[in-house]
Amino acid sequence: MPSNQSNVATARVSVSDKYRPVYADDLLTMQQTLERPLSGTSDVVTEYESKLAQWFDARHAIAVSSGGAALSVAIYAAGVGPGDDVLLTPSCPLCTIYPIIAAGANPIFVDTRTHGFGADPASIKARMTPRTRAIIDIPMWGYPTEVDELRTLTHELGIKLILDLAHSHGTTLHDRPLSQYGDLSCFSTHERKPLATGEGGFILTDDDALAQRSRDYSRFGNLNGKDFGLNYKLAALPAALGGSRLASLAGQIEKRSENAAYFLSKLDHSKVREKKIINGGVPNYYFLNLELHFADNRAFIDYLDEAGIPSDIKRYGCKALYEFPALTQYRNECPNAEALLAGMTTIPVHPDITLAELDYMAERINQYGAP
Ligand SMILES: *Cc1c(COP(=O)(O)O)cnc(C)c1O
Repeated sequence: MPSNQSNVATARVSVSDKYRPVYADDLLTMQQTLERPLSGTSDVVTEYESKLAQWFDARHAIAVSSGGAALSVAIYAAGVGPGDDVLLTPSCPLCTIYPIIAAGANPIFVDTRTHGFGADPASIKARMTPRTRAIIDIPMWGYPTEVDELRTLTHELGIKLILDLAHSHGTTLHDRPLSQYGDLSCFSTHERKPLATGEGGFILTDDDALAQRSRDYSRFGNLNGKDFGLNYKLAALPAALGGSRLASLAGQIEKRSENAAYFLSKLDHSKVREKKIINGGVPNYYFLNLELHFADNRAFIDYLDEAGIPSDIKRYGCKALYEFPALTQYRNECPNAEALLAGMTTIPVHPDITLAELDYMAERINQYGAP
């Protein structure tokens, strides 16, 4: 090893990318909820939906059983049927594309912009067909995308804008939550997400008709025998948990931002910098994103991994979705998205990360490649 690296005084630290806070109110919340109706039609769920609508400043919130369920419901509500086309960027997790395929629709990949994960308008226009009903935009790791421009464009094109905001609770653009720009905005409250209920999800919309369609579809068409539907309801216990944990979400995001700012103040490497934040946007720092400019970026990510610093890129083997065996039939070249994924890594900055860990991570990066 080069002398600088063997002289490192700090011992290896294993940094956790999992945020497991202790919520003081959880037990009391569970206990009180157990005395009430527990199904998805319980008032407990309605109360949770009101809290969500208020927090995100949305007209309607529909709680569902997962983020994947939220996407399936939104795809149905948007009027997507078998044989229709749904556009999406290939830089998202597998979770976003499977609901499109399950609906019998064709996923059509569009490229991202060069600087971030938002769908590129030129690519959208080039890959639109008369069968296109919707596009799903996926802001990754809580960094805002140009959803304002997408809203204007999709309305001109007459297609629905679905946002997959599974990472982006509290991310804003021009002082508004990203969810306000989507026709339908989908969230996950899976254990790893900023608002965590174990499993769970919800849909936000300001459109009365889309809200009604979402609600009906997620409840077996209300069993009225006229409207079709499946059961995607969220049960009362996770709903109660979400409702009480929502109170700490703003504080959590603030702490994440402080951690990110602190880490960046210590980061000093010519080939590593924070990913561009678009004008008017504020990330929630679900994960800090670093742009890498090494000849071999994967070697750098492996080096960090060996130093106990985990990356979502390595954890999930992030690559353009059409590179996965199950999805090769949908290949549609997206060079920007490929370059973005190959040229970045993630850094955990959740509220349980200590200043010592932030110092350690910055120090290890600053040492990389030192002579
Ligand atoms: C987690 C996630 C989902 C799926 O959410 P589940 O609640 O696990 O079903 C969808 N999209 C993205 C971007 C995600 O990160």
